[in-house]
Amino acid sequence: MENPSLYSLRMRAAQGGAHECGGLHISGGERLSTAEEVETLVSQLLHKAMSHSRGTADFISIVMEKVDQKEVECLSPLPVSTYDVHTPEEGRRQAAILLKQLFVSDTAIQNGLDLLASSHNWRGAILLDSQSGERIDHRGDRGIRVSRMDWEKSKHRLWQNQHPSFTSSRIAEAIALATKVARSPYTVAELCWSDDPEYVTGYVGSCELGYCRISHLKRKGELSGGRIFFVKEGTDIESYIEYLERKPVWIG
Ligand code: AMP
Repeated sequence: MENPSLYSLRMRAAQGGAHECGGLHISGGERLSTAEEVETLVSQLLHKAMSHSRGTADFISIVMEKVDQKEVECLSPLPVSTYDVHTPEEGRRQAAILLKQLFVSDTAIQNGLDLLASSHNWRGAILLDSQSGERIDHRGDRGIRVSRMDWEKSKHRLWQNQHPSFTSSRIAEAIALATKVARSPYTVAELCWSDDPEYVTGYVGSCELGYCRISHLKRKGELSGGRIFFVKEGTDIESYIEYLERKPVWIG
Protein backbone atom coordinates (compact mmCIF):
# COMPACT_ATOMS: atom_id res chain seq x y z
CA MET A 1 0.00 0.00 0.00
CA GLU A 2 1.23 3.49 -0.81
CA ASN A 3 2.34 5.68 2.13
CA PRO A 4 -0.13 8.49 2.99
CA SER A 5 0.98 11.95 1.84
CA LEU A 6 2.89 14.12 4.29
CA TYR A 7 3.18 17.90 4.22
CA SER A 8 5.46 20.47 5.79
CA LEU A 9 3.58 23.57 7.03
CA ARG A 10 5.51 26.76 7.82
CA MET A 11 4.00 29.96 9.19
CA ARG A 12 5.61 33.35 9.75
CA ALA A 13 3.87 36.51 10.89
CA ALA A 14 5.11 40.09 11.14
CA GLN A 15 3.88 43.60 11.94
CA GLY A 16 4.58 46.62 9.72
CA GLY A 17 4.94 44.52 6.57
CA ALA A 18 6.71 41.30 5.69
CA HIS A 19 9.97 40.40 7.45
CA GLU A 20 11.97 41.08 4.30
CA CYS A 21 10.44 44.59 4.11
CA GLY A 22 11.50 45.45 7.66
CA GLY A 23 8.44 44.17 9.55
CA LEU A 24 8.74 43.19 13.23
CA HIS A 25 8.73 39.42 13.74
CA ILE A 26 5.59 38.42 15.66
CA SER A 27 5.39 34.66 15.48
CA GLY A 28 6.35 31.55 13.54
CA GLY A 29 5.50 27.89 13.57
CA GLU A 30 6.28 24.68 11.74
CA ARG A 31 4.38 21.41 11.59
CA LEU A 32 4.38 18.11 9.74
CA SER A 33 0.92 17.06 8.67
CA THR A 34 -0.96 14.21 7.04
CA ALA A 35 -3.45 15.23 4.34
CA GLU A 36 -6.40 14.73 6.74
CA GLU A 37 -4.95 17.06 9.35
CA VAL A 38 -3.87 19.93 7.11
CA GLU A 39 -6.93 22.14 7.65
CA THR A 40 -6.82 21.73 11.43
CA LEU A 41 -3.10 22.46 11.65
CA VAL A 42 -3.31 25.45 9.30
CA SER A 43 -6.05 26.93 11.46
CA GLN A 44 -3.93 26.32 14.60
CA LEU A 45 -1.02 28.13 12.93
CA LEU A 46 -3.31 31.01 11.93
CA HIS A 47 -4.56 31.25 15.50
CA LYS A 48 -0.96 31.33 16.75
CA ALA A 49 -0.10 34.11 14.26
CA MET A 50 -3.12 36.22 15.22
CA SER A 51 -3.00 35.96 19.00
CA HIS A 52 0.61 36.60 20.00
CA SER A 53 1.60 38.86 22.86
CA ARG A 54 4.35 40.45 20.72
CA GLY A 55 1.61 42.30 18.82
CA THR A 56 -0.91 42.16 16.01
CA ALA A 57 0.37 40.72 12.75
CA ASP A 58 -0.47 42.43 9.47
CA PHE A 59 1.57 40.02 7.38
CA ILE A 60 1.07 36.25 7.60
CA SER A 61 2.60 33.68 5.29
CA ILE A 62 1.75 29.99 5.40
CA VAL A 63 3.66 27.67 3.08
CA MET A 64 2.72 24.06 2.47
CA GLU A 65 5.08 21.61 0.77
CA LYS A 66 4.84 17.89 0.15
CA VAL A 67 7.51 15.87 1.94
CA ASP A 68 9.06 12.63 0.74
CA GLN A 69 8.01 9.92 3.23
CA LYS A 70 11.17 7.95 2.55
CA GLU A 71 13.27 10.73 4.06
CA VAL A 72 11.45 10.86 7.42
CA GLU A 73 13.49 9.91 10.47
CA CYS A 74 12.11 9.09 13.93
CA LEU A 75 13.82 10.55 16.99
CA SER A 76 13.00 10.01 20.66
CA PRO A 77 12.37 13.23 22.60
CA LEU A 78 15.10 14.68 24.82
CA PRO A 79 14.51 13.95 28.52
CA VAL A 80 13.37 17.01 30.48
CA SER A 81 14.78 18.45 33.72
CA THR A 82 13.95 21.76 35.40
CA TYR A 83 16.16 24.27 37.23
CA ASP A 84 14.14 26.59 39.43
CA VAL A 85 15.84 29.96 39.79
CA HIS A 86 14.55 33.30 41.08
CA THR A 87 16.13 35.88 38.79
CA PRO A 88 17.31 36.12 35.18
CA GLU A 89 20.86 36.67 36.47
CA GLU A 90 20.72 33.38 38.38
CA GLY A 91 19.16 31.69 35.35
CA ARG A 92 21.88 32.90 33.00
CA ARG A 93 24.55 31.72 35.46
CA GLN A 94 22.87 28.30 35.48
CA ALA A 95 22.76 28.27 31.66
CA ALA A 96 26.49 29.10 31.60
CA ILE A 97 27.25 26.23 34.01
CA LEU A 98 25.40 23.76 31.77
CA LEU A 99 27.03 25.08 28.58
CA LYS A 100 30.45 24.84 30.21
CA GLN A 101 29.77 21.19 31.11
CA LEU A 102 29.15 20.65 27.40
CA PHE A 103 32.56 22.19 26.60
CA VAL A 104 31.28 25.41 25.08
CA SER A 105 34.06 27.98 25.61
CA ASP A 106 33.64 30.93 28.00
CA THR A 107 33.88 33.35 25.04
CA ALA A 108 31.17 31.52 23.11
CA ILE A 109 28.90 31.40 26.18
CA GLN A 110 29.32 35.12 26.78
CA ASN A 111 28.74 35.96 23.11
CA GLY A 112 25.61 33.79 23.07
CA LEU A 113 24.17 35.40 26.20
CA ASP A 114 25.01 38.93 24.97
CA LEU A 115 23.48 38.28 21.55
CA LEU A 116 20.25 36.90 23.03
CA ALA A 117 19.98 39.73 25.54
CA SER A 118 20.33 42.37 22.80
CA SER A 119 18.06 40.64 20.26
CA HIS A 120 14.51 41.80 19.70
CA ASN A 121 13.63 40.86 16.16
CA TRP A 122 15.04 37.48 15.16
CA ARG A 123 13.01 35.11 13.08
CA GLY A 124 15.36 32.13 13.35
CA ALA A 125 18.39 30.77 15.16
CA ILE A 126 21.94 32.14 15.13
CA LEU A 127 24.85 29.70 14.68
CA LEU A 128 27.95 30.27 16.83
CA ASP A 129 31.21 28.34 16.75
CA SER A 130 31.29 26.67 20.18
CA GLN A 131 35.00 27.44 20.64
CA SER A 132 35.77 30.80 18.98
CA GLY A 133 32.28 32.16 19.74
CA GLU A 134 32.13 33.66 16.25
CA ARG A 135 28.90 33.77 14.29
CA ILE A 136 29.14 31.36 11.38
CA ASP A 137 25.86 31.82 9.50
CA HIS A 138 25.28 34.78 7.21
CA ARG A 139 21.56 35.16 7.57
CA GLY A 140 21.23 38.41 9.53
CA ASP A 141 17.99 38.75 11.54
CA ARG A 142 16.45 35.96 9.49
CA GLY A 143 18.70 33.32 11.06
CA ILE A 144 18.04 29.64 10.45
CA ARG A 145 14.47 28.44 10.85
CA VAL A 146 14.34 24.76 11.87
CA SER A 147 11.45 23.12 10.00
CA ARG A 148 9.85 19.80 9.12
CA MET A 149 9.58 18.34 12.63
CA ASP A 150 6.56 17.38 14.70
CA TRP A 151 5.37 14.92 17.31
CA GLU A 152 4.05 11.59 16.18
CA LYS A 153 0.50 11.81 17.58
CA SER A 154 0.25 8.63 19.69
CA LYS A 155 3.76 9.20 21.10
CA HIS A 156 2.80 12.74 22.00
CA ARG A 157 -0.21 11.47 23.97
CA LEU A 158 2.03 9.01 25.79
CA TRP A 159 4.61 11.70 26.55
CA GLN A 160 1.85 14.04 27.73
CA ASN A 161 0.59 11.37 30.17
CA GLN A 162 4.10 10.98 31.52
CA HIS A 163 4.51 14.77 31.88
CA PRO A 164 1.07 15.96 33.09
CA SER A 165 2.40 19.32 34.29
CA PHE A 166 3.52 20.34 30.78
CA THR A 167 0.12 21.16 29.34
CA SER A 168 1.05 23.99 26.99
CA SER A 169 1.81 23.27 23.34
CA ARG A 170 4.76 25.67 23.72
CA ILE A 171 6.87 23.11 25.61
CA ALA A 172 5.98 20.23 23.29
CA GLU A 173 6.92 22.36 20.25
CA ALA A 174 10.17 23.49 21.87
CA ILE A 175 11.11 19.89 22.75
CA ALA A 176 10.45 18.78 19.16
CA LEU A 177 12.72 21.54 17.87
CA ALA A 178 15.40 21.00 20.53
CA THR A 179 15.41 17.23 19.84
CA LYS A 180 15.92 17.70 16.11
CA VAL A 181 18.70 20.24 16.72
CA ALA A 182 20.48 18.21 19.42
CA ARG A 183 20.52 15.02 17.35
CA SER A 184 22.71 16.54 14.65
CA PRO A 185 26.32 15.44 15.17
CA TYR A 186 27.35 19.07 14.50
CA THR A 187 25.39 20.51 17.44
CA VAL A 188 27.15 20.97 20.77
CA ALA A 189 24.29 22.76 22.56
CA GLU A 190 21.34 25.10 22.14
CA LEU A 191 20.45 28.11 24.28
CA CYS A 192 16.95 29.57 24.05
CA TRP A 193 14.65 31.99 25.68
CA SER A 194 11.42 33.13 24.11
CA ASP A 195 10.88 36.54 22.52
CA ASP A 196 7.38 36.48 24.00
CA PRO A 197 7.32 39.27 26.63
CA GLU A 198 4.99 37.19 28.82
CA TYR A 199 7.20 34.09 28.91
CA VAL A 200 10.46 34.07 30.88
CA THR A 201 11.41 30.37 30.97
CA GLY A 202 14.12 29.14 28.61
CA TYR A 203 16.37 26.14 28.18
CA VAL A 204 19.72 24.64 27.33
CA GLY A 205 19.33 21.65 25.01
CA SER A 206 21.85 18.92 24.13
CA CYS A 207 22.08 15.17 23.58
CA GLU A 208 24.22 14.74 26.69
CA LEU A 209 22.12 16.70 29.22
CA GLY A 210 18.71 16.63 27.53
CA TYR A 211 16.24 19.51 27.65
CA CYS A 212 17.20 21.58 30.72
CA ARG A 213 14.44 24.11 31.47
CA ILE A 214 15.53 27.18 33.40
CA SER A 215 12.62 28.97 35.01
CA HIS A 216 13.87 32.56 34.53
CA LEU A 217 16.16 33.72 31.75
CA LYS A 218 14.70 37.19 31.25
CA ARG A 219 12.39 39.66 32.96
CA LYS A 220 8.65 39.85 32.16
CA GLY A 221 7.89 42.51 29.55
CA GLU A 222 11.20 42.18 27.69
CA LEU A 223 11.04 41.57 23.94
CA SER A 224 14.49 39.97 23.75
CA GLY A 225 14.76 36.29 22.88
CA GLY A 226 15.78 33.78 20.27
CA ARG A 227 17.90 30.70 19.78
CA ILE A 228 21.64 30.15 19.64
CA PHE A 229 23.04 26.88 18.28
CA PHE A 230 26.61 26.27 19.42
CA VAL A 231 28.27 24.10 16.79
CA LYS A 232 31.45 22.06 16.57
CA GLU A 233 34.59 23.56 15.09
CA GLY A 234 34.92 22.63 11.42
CA THR A 235 31.17 22.06 10.91
CA ASP A 236 30.07 21.77 7.28
CA ILE A 237 27.67 24.71 7.55
CA GLU A 238 25.77 24.02 4.33
CA SER A 239 24.90 20.42 5.23
CA TYR A 240 24.08 21.44 8.81
CA ILE A 241 21.62 24.09 7.56
CA GLU A 242 20.19 21.62 5.02
CA TYR A 243 19.50 19.18 7.90
CA LEU A 244 17.91 21.86 10.10
CA GLU A 245 15.68 23.31 7.38
CA ARG A 246 14.85 20.31 5.21
CA LYS A 247 15.20 16.95 6.99
CA PRO A 248 11.73 15.68 8.01
CA VAL A 249 11.65 14.28 11.54
CA TRP A 250 8.95 12.65 13.67
CA ILE A 251 9.45 12.96 17.41
CA GLY A 252 8.20 9.90 19.19
P1 AMP B 1 9.43 30.92 20.52
O1 AMP B 1 10.08 29.74 21.17
O2 AMP B 1 8.41 30.55 19.51
O3 AMP B 1 8.98 31.95 21.49
O4 AMP B 1 10.59 31.60 19.67
C1 AMP B 1 11.59 32.37 20.25
C2 AMP B 1 12.62 32.70 19.21
O5 AMP B 1 13.30 31.48 18.86
C3 AMP B 1 12.13 33.25 17.89
O6 AMP B 1 12.05 34.64 17.88
C4 AMP B 1 13.19 32.81 16.93
O7 AMP B 1 14.29 33.68 16.96
C5 AMP B 1 13.59 31.48 17.50
N1 AMP B 1 12.84 30.38 16.87
C6 AMP B 1 11.53 30.06 17.03
N2 AMP B 1 11.19 29.00 16.26
C7 AMP B 1 12.31 28.66 15.60
C8 AMP B 1 12.61 27.67 14.63
N3 AMP B 1 11.69 26.83 14.18
N4 AMP B 1 13.88 27.61 14.17
C9 AMP B 1 14.82 28.46 14.62
N5 AMP B 1 14.60 29.43 15.51
C10 AMP B 1 13.37 29.54 15.99
